[in-house]
Formats: sequence, structure tokens, C-alpha cells
Amino acid sequence: MSATRVLVLNSGSSSVKYQLLDMRDSSRLATGLVERIGERSSRLRHTPLGGPSRERTEPIADHEAALKTVAAELAKDGLGLDSPELAAIGHRVVHGGRTFTEPTVIDERVLAEIERLIPVAPLHNPANLTGIRTARALRPDLPQVAVFDTAFHTTMPESAARYAIDVATADAHRVRRYGFHGTSHAYVSRATAKLLGRAPEDVNVIVLHLGNGASASAVRGGRCVDTSMGLTPLEGLVMGTRSGDMDPAVIFHLARVGKMSIDEIDTLLNKKSGLVGLCGDNDMREIRRRIDEGDERAALAFDIYIHRLKKYIGAYYAVLGTVDAIAFTAGVGENAAPVRAAAVAGLETLGLAVDGELNAVRSDEPRLISPADARVKVAVVPTDEELEIATQTYALVGEESD
Ligand code: ADP
Repeated sequence: MSATRVLVLNSGSSSVKYQLLDMRDSSRLATGLVERIGERSSRLRHTPLGGPSRERTEPIADHEAALKTVAAELAKDGLGLDSPELAAIGHRVVHGGRTFTEPTVIDERVLAEIERLIPVAPLHNPANLTGIRTARALRPDLPQVAVFDTAFHTTMPESAARYAIDVATADAHRVRRYGFHGTSHAYVSRATAKLLGRAPEDVNVIVLHLGNGASASAVRGGRCVDTSMGLTPLEGLVMGTRSGDMDPAVIFHLARVGKMSIDEIDTLLNKKSGLVGLCGDNDMREIRRRIDEGDERAALAFDIYIHRLKKYIGAYYAVLGTVDAIAFTAGVGENAAPVRAAAVAGLETLGLAVDGELNAVRSDEPRLISPADARVKVAVVPTDEELEIATQTYALVGEESD
């Protein structure tokens, strides 16, 4: 029997998320999460296909222990990592710099390059590397593939990718706009073309990935031409806990006048800003509930979030010139009808509108929410980064082993 399974690993600094997929029908044979790695109260949740979840709390010292625990859980369901049906492991890697424009089979050279990129991704790449090294130690013979969050954005022209700062300084420190969430933007832009019944090469799409982290992208004929995140995921939209765009001089001001350290400002802008900084909550459900109760801080936070979102829709409309569709995705984009309605409100002259009834429908399927005669379609397209990572991994490994 040929190997048709792909294990997708997303290794964070203190967590590992995983999914085992069967690529014959894209089914999830198992999904799970190990959290709080390194603490006494690490938590595991493992859900086999169709079965009840198994959850427990126990100390899990490091990523190696976490992955061994995952392997043991999979083995209980007859899905062990030693199975001949496992074709490959696909790893989410946050930063691929300018080097990695495509999913890449991992070898020592690739590992060294991901390591070289740590200065531009100090929070993410070390954890991703640990996950890869641990998985390679468990199954050294198995092909392992890195799928980069930045890869889809490497097609951005220099006019969009460069900051207007001294070129020599920027180049010396690899300061440029890389963009993130690329796996999701790639998947959703293609799925949107499919929803329109057209080839990705033939459509221009604005993708709005609105999760806890949030980013927008302008996709022309299947290629990214601009995206809202930059050197790091801090730039762009208002997010759950990140500020997004700001005058960079705010940082100098907080340092000089506010006497804050660089690390304090980093934490402020990444963890204590955005919706949480504005109103104390970063969950859009809670914010909408508070607005319904007349809470003014929540209402202002929502308005700031929408104002920024609308600015990006306008900006990317101008960048693309012609827009076929706008696609909402991720936790907020897929679920929060009021966000979708407010983001396109008043943009009728751009051919943009949302049908109230269609927008209110709850569904896990890709769907159009614009009026039937709309010039620009508005779509809700659930993202599936794990499936995209598995698909890209399998495509690469399948070709190699054929
Ligand atoms: P991430 O992957 O960035 O952690 P998700 O894409 O899972 O985030 O999105 C999480 C966010 O989605 C939550 O913080 C919440 O604001 C929003 N969200 C989830 N479900 C709903 C819902 N039913 N209505 C409104 N917002 C929701």
C-alpha cells in the first residue's frame, strides 16, 4: 500500500499543534494540541477521527517530550509515526526570508538557513526549528517539508516590499516587508477563484485574514502583490493584541518621554494593544456583546478596527485596479457578520455590497454574501492552513517518491 498520510506540525514556543491527514480524501485521522510545554501543568488534547477527545494535564518538559507524547497518542489509535502509511511530515515555518519561495524538503542546508533567519523571527523560527529537529530524530528516514508563512508573499514587487529607509541600512539588517499568514492567503485566494468558477490566474482578490492575528493581501492572478504585515506580524490591521500601523515615532516617544525600555514597548505593541488595549477584550464575540449592552469603549474599539480594515480594502483596490472578489477568512472573518457588513458599508460606488440575509447565514462552506448582481463579489471562505500545508507537502514528496 502506498503512503498517503501526512502529519502536519505547527511548533510554537510552548505549544505543538498537529493534524494527521489522509491525502486520498483530505480527511483528518487525528488532530491535537500540546500546550504549556515546559510547565508543570502541560496539557494534551488529542481527537481521533469520529472519536471523543482525550485530554490530560501532566508535566511535559520540552518539545521532544511533547512529540513523543503525540506519537504515543497516535499509536493508541493505530496511527503511529512508524506506520508505513505515513508519507511525510509537513512543518509550518514562520519565516523563510527571501530564500524560501516554495515548500522545501528539509535537509541540513535548509535547517541552517532557517536558523540564519532567527534574527528576523526571534520568537517563531527557534520553536519551528526545535519541532523539525525533534521530528527528524524520531523518523530520520522520513521526508520532512518546511512550508513557510512568508513564501506566498515573495512575489511582492520591490515597490511594495521595501520600506522607504536608507537602502544600505535596510539591506545590512534584512529590513523589508515579508508578510505572514501566506499559507492562508494562498489557500483562500485560490478557493475564492474556485467559488467564482474561474482560474486563479484570471482573478484579482483581496483576502482579509481576520483571526487573533490579522492581515490583508492583494492577489493579482494568483500572485501576491501586497500584504499588510511587514518585517514582523506587527504591521497593518488592528489585531486582537497588536497595534498594527502606527507612526514609528511613537516608539521613540515612549522610550524618551515615557522612559519605557525597548522590551516593554515590544510587549505593549504586540501583546497589550489592538482590541485588547483599546477595550480590554480581544474576542470579537465579547466585543459585540458589550456593544449590544451599550458599552462605549467596546464600540470605539470596533470602529477603530473597522476604520483600518476599510482603509486596507481601499488601498488594495487601488493597488489592484480591478477587483473580482473580497474574501473574509479566519475566526473573525468567517464568523463575525457585523464586521463584514461594516467593512464594506458605504463602498457601493466601488461595486461592493453585502446582502444582509446572505451575510447572516452561518456555514462552514465557502459562500458568496454579496447581492447576485454585485460587480465585486464578497465571499466568506473558511481557511484551512493545515490542509494547505499537507497538500503542499504531499505534492512535493509524492513527486519525489514516484
Ligand atoms: P488565530 O488562529 O489567529 O489564533 P482564529 O482565526 O482562530 O485566530 O480567530 C480567533 C478569533 O476569532 C477570536 O479571538 C474571536 O475574536 C474570533 N471569533 C471566533 N469565533 C467567533 C464568532 N462566532 N463570532 C465572532 N468572532 C469570533
